[in-house]
Amino acid sequence: MTTPPPARVGDPAGAIDTPALVIDLDAFERNLDRMAAFAKETGVRIRPHAKTHKSPMIARLQMERGAVGQCCQKVGEAEVLVDGGIDDVLVSNQVVGEAKVARLAALARRARIGVCADDPLQVDAYAAAARTYGTTLHVLVEIDVGAARCGVAPGTPAVELAQRIAAADGLVFDGIQAYHGAAQHIRGYRERHAAIAKASDLVEATVDALAAAGLECRTIGGAGSGTFRFETGTGLWNELQPGSYCLMDADYGRNLKDDGSEGLEFEHALFIASTVMSAVVPGRAVVDAGLKASSVDSGLPEVWQRADTTFVSASDEHGKLSLGAGAPPAGLGDRVWLVPGHVDPTVNLYDWYVGVRGGLESGYVECLWPVAARGALT
Ligand code: PLP
Ligand code: MN
Repeated sequence: MTTPPPARVGDPAGAIDTPALVIDLDAFERNLDRMAAFAKETGVRIRPHAKTHKSPMIARLQMERGAVGQCCQKVGEAEVLVDGGIDDVLVSNQVVGEAKVARLAALARRARIGVCADDPLQVDAYAAAARTYGTTLHVLVEIDVGAARCGVAPGTPAVELAQRIAAADGLVFDGIQAYHGAAQHIRGYRERHAAIAKASDLVEATVDALAAAGLECRTIGGAGSGTFRFETGTGLWNELQPGSYCLMDADYGRNLKDDGSEGLEFEHALFIASTVMSAVVPGRAVVDAGLKASSVDSGLPEVWQRADTTFVSASDEHGKLSLGAGAPPAGLGDRVWLVPGHVDPTVNLYDWYVGVRGGLESGYVECLWPVAARGALT
């Protein structure tokens, strides 16, 4: 069941029912433009990650600005993107299980579909399904470049897997997936850069070994919002997969810039609109947004532009704010804007984005977009 939207187009932002997932459209579009300009300057391809936004509407805005396609993590997300008109989708993940692989191969009738592999059994399953459905799957060999999650070891193991893909009817060997998830939130700029420099050595060795075996990589994919400049700087990666950049969260705000200061290269564009629901104790206020309204796995939400006011704890339906000496009063019914700690799981809590134009305080609702791939976990 989809819940009704918490506002109507044309409403003042102050009238949005809460808790609600709100996009500041002006900041959001500046984020999209900034990444598009980076791609133009450097010549690198951008394939933004839809695991963040789960929305074909946002995907289309990225494609209009030159993105070559979309990434996602789940077959269900890929189906929603293709239903929404996106014709080039990479599932930047392992797809395991007969039902899922069949859906993926069937989807390739309607769009160019890419997928990752790190196991020969998986390659065989992709090939069998592609033959059954008479389609082609574009397969990237995922290598472990330091995150110690999925991926074969760089070098010879990657070559062996690539050869198996290249030899399989129904599959095309497309290149390598080299995403360093653990590097994205390394706080220090130099340390973050060093992690990608290490990954780069592994990518280079693998590309060379593949070339020696006569296999060319059309795609060397990876990179997120915390590191994409570093991958690009190596000249090796040619397709970037940033997700969070369009919305940005409090966790990314804690990464350090090259001058050592905290801050964002992109702007916060995603907010939770919340309302003070209890204010009976001086110095404390409780808002109607707890951990069912904002994921807390990467830290609590931050209170937006309210001096000396801190979000101190979240329970299911309550968020407790502490008001310091310099805080403006927070009375019953007051609107409080929160920046979620982690965008991706927060977005997955809502049925609707409310797009606000002209600023959170005095703007108006311009659009309502469904979070169409909400809950697409399979
Ligand atoms: N690529 C892959 C494979 C990912 O798993 C992720 C996120 O976890 C991203 C790209 C995007 O990362 P970010 O949201 O940090 O930009
Ligand atoms: Mn994330």
